[in-house]
Amino acid sequence: MSYPFSAPVDLRSDTVTKPTEGMRRAMAAAEVGDDVYDEDPTVHRLQERVAELLGKEAALYVPSGTMSNQIAVRVHTQPGDEILVEASCHIYNYEAGGPAVLSHVMCRPIPGRYGVLDVDDFEGMIRPTNEHYAQTRLVCLENTHNRGGGRIFPLANIERICAWAHEHGLRTHLDGARLFNAVVATGVAACEYARHFDTVSVCFSKGLGAPVGSALAGPRELIARARRIRKVFGGGMRQAGVIAAAALYALEHHIERLHEDHENAQRLARVIDEIDGLVLDPPDVHTNIIWFEVHPTVATAAEVAERARQRHVLLGVGGPQTLRACTHLDVTREMIDYAGQVLREVMAELAATRAKVRG
Ligand SMILES: *Cc1c(COP(=O)(O)O)cnc(C)c1O
Repeated sequence: MSYPFSAPVDLRSDTVTKPTEGMRRAMAAAEVGDDVYDEDPTVHRLQERVAELLGKEAALYVPSGTMSNQIAVRVHTQPGDEILVEASCHIYNYEAGGPAVLSHVMCRPIPGRYGVLDVDDFEGMIRPTNEHYAQTRLVCLENTHNRGGGRIFPLANIERICAWAHEHGLRTHLDGARLFNAVVATGVAACEYARHFDTVSVCFSKGLGAPVGSALAGPRELIARARRIRKVFGGGMRQAGVIAAAALYALEHHIERLHEDHENAQRLARVIDEIDGLVLDPPDVHTNIIWFEVHPTVATAAEVAERARQRHVLLGVGGPQTLRACTHLDVTREMIDYAGQVLREVMAELAATRAKVRG
């Protein structure tokens, strides 16, 4: 059978989406100005919309989620401070050492359960005020949690942790790269999650499907300082309305549809769960990310990914035995069913090869 789709089934990440026709039209029609002069009306509209959605005084449009998080770390800390992070979080693991390079702070990683912490996990984590110690300054949480398998951080845990942090004079930041996935999956409003944090970062370039951009929201005074740091980090942009228009379009048209990605992820996870030699980890899928392990007696993750690639299905390789599949707006239900069938075939082939080798 010839391959039925016009593009590969690209499940490596939800960042691979391409702007839709409607989004491209919005971009082409965007009114623009020089945003370093603070004169881009489309960027202004986007920032106001994000602030409103998150219930914050102000927001700042930035080129990437990494920059948004790293500006937040910088705005909340002084060199030599310590920040409390979940051990498998994005800020600590996937931002190229940003906290050390850009803010000269230490990260204290606290292991969670698929990225989720509760207030007890923070017991004893604030260092005493004494010249020997770094000053504990900031707590960062991630919702949904990427390495935790798109895990939803329960609102009750957020309430407890942030109340504790603020009681002890710590600041709080939410890496909400996929906050809207949590919003759609739970029905909890974005501002309900956001109100517990001093600053919140959201990405437009993940499941929302915009080509670029993130925003950092928070109190007006902090966002004014964030704007200066954005300039230092090289993130001041000129006629950014062209890309901000895509983000505005995404906020308007691509939030509600995230439930389709979640349904597709469930659909694929059910297939993976039934295949010998593959194990879902975490076992339950909350939103649009599936992490799964290949049993080492059958194959490596790279071998499975390569054979799937030959059949036009692209998977993320996250470790020697670890694979990731993300659903997003460029993956239809038909493509998900195709991907499931490819995984069945690939695993059957690899199992047969191994059986033959062993005799
Ligand atoms: C993708 C991601 C980011 C930011 O990534 P960029 O590629 O810099 O936009 C931040 N946090 C999480 C949890 C992410 O998944």
